[in-house]
Amino acid sequence: MRINKYIASCGIASRRKAEEIILQKRVTVNGNVVSELSFKIDEQNDIVEIDGSKIGLDEKEVYIVLNKPEGYITTVKDQFDRPSVLDLVSDIKERIYPIGRLDYETSGLLILTNDGDLTYKLTHPKHEVAKTYMAIVKGIPTTDEMKNFEDGLYIEDYKTAPAKIKIVKKDEEKNYAICEIKIHEGRNRQVRKMCRAIDHPVLRLRRAAMGEITLRGTEVGKYRNLTKEEVDYLK
Ligand code: URA
Repeated sequence: MRINKYIASCGIASRRKAEEIILQKRVTVNGNVVSELSFKIDEQNDIVEIDGSKIGLDEKEVYIVLNKPEGYITTVKDQFDRPSVLDLVSDIKERIYPIGRLDYETSGLLILTNDGDLTYKLTHPKHEVAKTYMAIVKGIPTTDEMKNFEDGLYIEDYKTAPAKIKIVKKDEEKNYAICEIKIHEGRNRQVRKMCRAIDHPVLRLRRAAMGEITLRGTEVGKYRNLTKEEVDYLK
């Protein structure tokens, strides 16, 4: 964006007045004085100051829930250049990022926001929001295996917190079960590791809910805005 337009968008001055301020050499971008009216800035990354005070676009808070497809990473970039969930929300101009992670191969509910306080709260290990997953697992878990899963399993160097698992469908001939799993923690690949620990590796995994937040019919690859009630509930 051109520097004078940016200054005007920040509500500091009209474009014409902004031009005067620029010509008076009162504007710096990343510490360097800018006196060219045609100078273009990167409004996401550049630091623009007038008379030494930083200015910025007054970003509104954005909260969305995306139905993540399989085959997308939840980080901004990775070394293999795989598609990122941010590619699916590129029409949102605010700089949003996912709350927590889903694996490349996992699909389903992913909340994205630019509200750092909410992100901090929801990703804190003590946070109570339960995450519900639907997992297709190999084989059919027995009652004992499911009890172990629920009581807590030793994975690597930790014991998992109490969780829930129930079989919603099973096919003995094809040797798989569809399980609804609820966990509170959010460690790396936790559901996959827990299922493997009871000898029923995950074949496919989808997150269906975070607390009371669900996708409510949002198609795969699409997103919807959270309602004010949903945001208040998460906060
Ligand atoms: N647990 C996993 O194993 N993978 C996910 O993507 C989310 C939870």
